[in-house]
Amino acid sequence: MNIIFLGAPGAGKGTQAEKVSARYGIPAISTGAIIRSAIKTGTPMGTAAKAYTEKGALVPDEVVIGIIKERLAEEDCKNGFILDGFPRTVPQAEALDTMGVKIDLVISIEVSDEAIVDRMSGRRVCDACGASYHVKYNPSKDGVTCDKDGTTLTQRKDDKPEVVLDRLSTYHETTEPIKGYYEGTGKLRIVDGEQSVDEATAAVFATIDNVG
Ligand code: AMP
Repeated sequence: MNIIFLGAPGAGKGTQAEKVSARYGIPAISTGAIIRSAIKTGTPMGTAAKAYTEKGALVPDEVVIGIIKERLAEEDCKNGFILDGFPRTVPQAEALDTMGVKIDLVISIEVSDEAIVDRMSGRRVCDACGASYHVKYNPSKDGVTCDKDGTTLTQRKDDKPEVVLDRLSTYHETTEPIKGYYEGTGKLRIVDGEQSVDEATAAVFATIDNVG
């Protein structure tokens, strides 16, 4: 099954995408994680994307569409995939259609702006494996290092309070209209993202099982 997760930054798309990946055995593809890794290794794409991500702006469509095209051509996507953070603009959604990518389900994880700000200020990530935690709602075992590989957790530069508000307004202006794009297809489902992580996961699994 090919699934898209929509939702504001910090809504829990990445966390739920990982759970779905583990349960259904399909890869979770995060354009944000691919971009962060390219920035870290200093590839030309990473160098070009750095200024945009650091100020909370979107990377140009043609760059992210190129990333997704390459990634979806890989062997592990043959039996399905989960898109976390793509599409983020209507032209990106149209690009999937143009590429002939069939989408079975679009899950929008919905969380109020107040809760988003609270979540993003407490989010901590592992720079080595990309795992995401929250100091209050989803802490790692010792609260300081990654459960998977022991790397010291850090705060993303774009999770700093001054950048979070810009990312939220970008979400409302540019990404939220994608819901309208998929509404007419009958494939859009809404999941309440303000429940606990486990409750939201149960709702996501139920949504997928209903379709599959
Ligand atoms: P994320 O980890 O999904 O919050 O993405 C982090 C940052 O990467 C975003 O704030 C954007 O700068 C960039 N990015 C990720 N996905 C996209 C996308 N589909 N379109 C444009 N920019 C993106």
